[in-house]
Amino acid sequence: MAGVDVFRMNFSHGEHDEHRARHAAIRELERSTGRPVGIMMDLQGPKLRIGKFAEGPIELAIGDRFRLDLHDAPGDQERATLPHPEIFAALEPGADLLLDDGKVRLRVKSCGQKFADTEVVVAGPLSERKGVNVPGVVLPLSPLTEKDRRDLAFGLELGVDWVALSFVQRPEDIVEARGLIGEQAGILAKLEKPAAIERLEPIVDLADAVMVARGDLGVEMPAEDVPIQQRRIVQVARQAGKPVVVATQMLDSMMERPVPTRAEASDVATAVYEGADAVMLSGETAAGAYPVEAVTMMNRIVERVQDDPAYWDGLEAQNNDAKDTTPDAISAAVKVAADSINPAAIVTYTTSGSTAFRIARERPRYPIVSLTPRETTARRQTIVWGVHSRRTPDANSLEDMVEIAGHQARIDGIAGPGDRVIITAGVPFGAPGITNMLRIARIGMGG
Ligand code: PGA
Ligand code: MN
Repeated sequence: MAGVDVFRMNFSHGEHDEHRARHAAIRELERSTGRPVGIMMDLQGPKLRIGKFAEGPIELAIGDRFRLDLHDAPGDQERATLPHPEIFAALEPGADLLLDDGKVRLRVKSCGQKFADTEVVVAGPLSERKGVNVPGVVLPLSPLTEKDRRDLAFGLELGVDWVALSFVQRPEDIVEARGLIGEQAGILAKLEKPAAIERLEPIVDLADAVMVARGDLGVEMPAEDVPIQQRRIVQVARQAGKPVVVATQMLDSMMERPVPTRAEASDVATAVYEGADAVMLSGETAAGAYPVEAVTMMNRIVERVQDDPAYWDGLEAQNNDAKDTTPDAISAAVKVAADSINPAAIVTYTTSGSTAFRIARERPRYPIVSLTPRETTARRQTIVWGVHSRRTPDANSLEDMVEIAGHQARIDGIAGPGDRVIITAGVPFGAPGITNMLRIARIGMGG
């Protein structure tokens, strides 16, 4: 594999059968590589679209009046269907509607429960089924549409490790999704609405991970604001110890060419320097001409940044105080111990995976080998910064623990006989519980 840790299945496209086939192919690949691979299902969410036109695309000029309404009739030069009563209920004069990724902008002049009369402020062609963004308004929409609920049931049945929620607007959206998902998968909140950015902290606290979804975010807010928000989101997520993914257009030109632009290479590197857990490709691997080259290139950029001592100094400067729980204190102690003895690896035993998340929050300079008996945990933590996720039998004793840790670190080529490793676990063994122990051990010479 060229370097993928997590695959995204985007439910904005494709039929269930296609997703089922891809899911099976990924699981097959996972078996052949012998290391866990994460699968994220990405729900389309409340993506709004206009209806059809009677006679093909129309052309809107600045100053034109254009009406959006709930009527079924195909649209024309004067009006189009916008089949979402919730929007009309929430709109107010002065609000802007962005169509086709912001290429056309309509300003609401007057509106009622079933219509909005607008004026064209950014002109352009408009064709049927184009997307509509309403940046300034919190819409009374569930984050999960009927389609999302069907897709979610399908995905959870198939077995996915993460569920990505699109167009999250408020913290309550995460609570609603949690009610359906429970602990069956991690919940990743895609941050692509200004309303969500305004309530960033509570959303980060409730979600298991977040994504800087720059595609839609860049439609809903000015492009020059996106890098500022990216940096802030990464920092807030890092502080909370939640994985953060930076996504969209990272190597966009590789859709058509086998090499990226300098600016794209720099964009990927910047996300890594900022402390992101993961960087994501979308069109580049879903529809581009050079999917393998794109993954290989992205992997090379990430690895290259990680060779730069300034990267580590930068992460260290961002480090924040440990929270006042036993597992957080152990994680902070791991960092201190690691910096004094330079271990070959930090090995954690975890059932839920929470320990790996906590240790990664400290951004230690040494590989984190996270061992878990649970397949779901092993797969879910593939998204986390710096973690080599491995499924192993549970340890029954301290000797056992050192033995398994050494064995795994050796087969991963991370540590050799005689090397020191730092091990954390929860004792007593065998029962899920909190991490409360730190041990420094030397790997045995045996096979
Ligand atoms: P999408 O989400 O690719 O599902 O639209 C990511 C983004 O908006 O950046
Ligand atoms: Mn999006």
